[in-house]
Amino acid sequence: KAKSNGKNSYEIYADSIIYPATDRLQLENILDRAIADCKLFLHYQPQLDILTGKIIGIEALLRCQDLHGNLLSPAELIPMAEETGSIIKIGEWVIRTACQQNKIWQNLGLGHFPIAVNFSVKQLQDRNLIEKIDTILAETGLPATALEIEVTESIAIKDLDLTISILQSLREIGVKISLDDFGTGYSSLAVLKYIPLDRLKIDRSFMRELRANTIDAGIVRTIINLGHELKLNVVAEGVETVEQFECLRSINCDAVQGFLFSRPLAAPELEVAIATGSYWHQNLFHVHN
Ligand code: C2E
Ligand code: MG
Ligand code: MG
Ligand code: MG
Repeated sequence: KAKSNGKNSYEIYADSIIYPATDRLQLENILDRAIADCKLFLHYQPQLDILTGKIIGIEALLRCQDLHGNLLSPAELIPMAEETGSIIKIGEWVIRTACQQNKIWQNLGLGHFPIAVNFSVKQLQDRNLIEKIDTILAETGLPATALEIEVTESIAIKDLDLTISILQSLREIGVKISLDDFGTGYSSLAVLKYIPLDRLKIDRSFMRELRANTIDAGIVRTIINLGHELKLNVVAEGVETVEQFECLRSINCDAVQGFLFSRPLAAPELEVAIATGSYWHQNLFHVHN
């Protein structure tokens, strides 16, 4: 176990042994260079109201390109960035970029919806978090209500009191809070009622077998009812088929996100998708006057 003893050294924990040393160094290098070379960018995926197909939010997802132009998955990148501490810097860049982008979309008249940014535990432990978010909102001119943060259940078991008070402060300024990957973590139902939340996102692992009368349909229906009991909006992520969509609608899910409607896209491509309505399936949604 190596101790961090200055700004430029990284803390290496015993459980990081799963990463071979050379890969670690390589990846840390890629991360540092990526930030310096602006090879980080965001893709955006819409979340739709299940009845009308109207966009109710857009999730920002981190993309990172290595020096050969290959894309690294955030699933590998984020745990590494958490370990090295670069997640704080990267996270701040993600919030700022997402807020700037949403302000541009508002100015273009594309609609008013929150932009959802994924948060890691480390970011919630950052003492300057609230101040940073305040500054970013002031700089970009984006209303706090147009920013949503997605946290996973695992944050709920780490320093619960601190997490609750930070999420509470964020909510007081108007930022929306979403619980991501719901159903896969360790948090108990008792804890759920204490976390200040606006939305539950059902993990996409429940979608695979989602058809009428399957066990997963029963589980998902129960999650949706639980969410509604807690006055939360419930979004299903990873919706890929019409069958899944119809099942979700029959059990009163509020919103959907997934490849069936749109893959995560670069901003200009998403603008085209919105302008042409390519994500909106005429045979699935009802038009309300
Ligand atoms: P997540 O927040 O649960 O994001 C949803 C993931 O599911 C995304 O993967 C998205 O591309 C993928 N997805 C969306 N629709 C479908 C679908 O219909 N089918 C399938 N098979 N997949 C779908 P991605 O972009 O690879 O991100 C993976 C995870 O990395 C995210 O899971 C999130 O936990 C994390 N992540 C991404 N961006 C950031 C970030 O800026 N900061 C932090 N801390 N974590 C991030
Ligand atoms: Mg997410
Ligand atoms: Mg998720
Ligand atoms: Mg996930």
